[in-house]
Amino acid sequence: MKEYAEKFYKSDAWKKCRIAFIKSLPDKTCNRCKEKPGKIVHHKEEITPLNINNPMVTLNFENLEYVCQDCHNKEHHSNLAVREDVMFDSDGNLVKNIPPHKKQRCFPLRDRGGGLQKIHRSHTREGGTIKESR
Ligand SMILES: [Zn+2]
Ligand SMILES: [Zn+2]
Repeated sequence: MKEYAEKFYKSDAWKKCRIAFIKSLPDKTCNRCKEKPGKIVHHKEEITPLNINNPMVTLNFENLEYVCQDCHNKEHHSNLAVREDVMFDSDGNLVKNIPPHKKQRCFPLRDRGGGLQKIHRSHTREGGTIKESR
């Protein structure tokens, strides 16, 4: 977790914004899969040191998305090489994830209207890191 982001995620402004955003949603299911209940408020435009003080990015409902844990992990894993022993919690922090046993590594590629089938990737294991290539 980067320090600048940690401050933001702990701020009252964000906590209030997050709650208000969830309240404003007519449908509390995940915006992505529309199956599971939403859990995480994700920033579509990622928060960086450059925009962290810009409420039009950080606190703008237009920039927020309500997603379940799985979809949030996919979103971030699709951009980053992430170790399998960490995951994102409800505030977007990286936390330790102890998998029950061998978790399935490849995501089920269900076609729900065109979004997912383009995600074809191979996973190779290198010293504990999953590298994803497309
Ligand atoms: Zn979902
Ligand atoms: Zn996110």
